[in-house]
Amino acid sequence: MADLLECLIKLSEKAGKLARIIRSENTLFKLLVQRKDDIHKNDDSFVHDFKTLGDVLIQEMIRYEIQKQFTNLAERVFGEETNKFTNTLGETVTVSIRPTVSETADVLNKVLNNNKEAAHLLAKALHEEVSMDVGSKVTNLTLELDLSNIGIWIDPIDGTSEFIKGNEDSTPKDGIYSNGLQCALVLIGVFDTTTGEPVMGVVNQPFAVNKDKSWQGRVLWGVCHKDVTASSFSLEATPHDSVDCIVSSAEKEEYTSRLERVGSVCTSSGAGYKMLCVIEEFTDAYFVSRGQTYKWDTCAPHALLRSVGGGIVDFEVTLNKCRKEKDVRLSGQEIAYHKPDSEGLEAKNRWSNSGGLVAYRSKESLQKLFDAFL
Ligand SMILES: [Mg+2]
Repeated sequence: MADLLECLIKLSEKAGKLARIIRSENTLFKLLVQRKDDIHKNDDSFVHDFKTLGDVLIQEMIRYEIQKQFTNLAERVFGEETNKFTNTLGETVTVSIRPTVSETADVLNKVLNNNKEAAHLLAKALHEEVSMDVGSKVTNLTLELDLSNIGIWIDPIDGTSEFIKGNEDSTPKDGIYSNGLQCALVLIGVFDTTTGEPVMGVVNQPFAVNKDKSWQGRVLWGVCHKDVTASSFSLEATPHDSVDCIVSSAEKEEYTSRLERVGSVCTSSGAGYKMLCVIEEFTDAYFVSRGQTYKWDTCAPHALLRSVGGGIVDFEVTLNKCRKEKDVRLSGQEIAYHKPDSEGLEAKNRWSNSGGLVAYRSKESLQKLFDAFL
């Protein structure tokens, strides 16, 4: 199944490129700023519209391209966004990628209230072939994956608020950006529809390095299925005495102060980015106490973490088990992706990781972190 991985890596790259175009093209930006001033006069709806357009376009592009190459898989591509977009005239347009640039531009033209230039620019980028060498580690990979037994979760632009704010001057502390464009990621995760296990993940960081005022992205991937584990990097988790942890700035004080008992705690923007920090060992764990992340946020990073010996557990379920069994090594409950956590969840939260989570790089870190709660 190396061809699926190769396809997803290239699609993530195309998505990253679109994200860079949307940010950098004056035409698009002016259009949206104009909409804000003329129509909404309110930051929230501006943010909402921008998010929806960028996200919907990228998600539909990925679905369209997957359908071209893996026909039956497209119906099992899931994400946060629907492909409906309401323009400023109140017309609802179904955004879909058409077979040619001009047909796609026609669809986008309706969304963008007849801004032909912007519509053409985006349509051209949506249809452009991505030429990239994915490397022999990918092309030589042998993986028995039954295509009829997998699904895909996409987060087209995780960390949207950072993407919109567009801060280019953020500086990292100990390798971690607390905010800025670096926190926006494209996440594509493949899961087993029977077991719910995340088996393959691609994480693309469209704004990784700013060289000579031009942004360059990077892509990471990981596979963990049956006896095959492989990834774009090979880092051994280093054992630590204390467990450093990353959390959202909105995390409850009672939890962060408990975490401070076992190590240092820092905050950053974007769920995907915080998991990337765990994957790359800038921190040992990522903690969320409540259902604030969704399956589309965690599926791809989870597959990468598994490919290097880590994982993501449901916080609440694992904590309850720990309290009963007194041993987290036996009872860490990994998050699954094939069904909602509970049928009782309301529609908005149907696909949330409802019990919170702990993403970890090594089993030792996981155990030490739970010690703070026992
Ligand atoms: Mg997200």
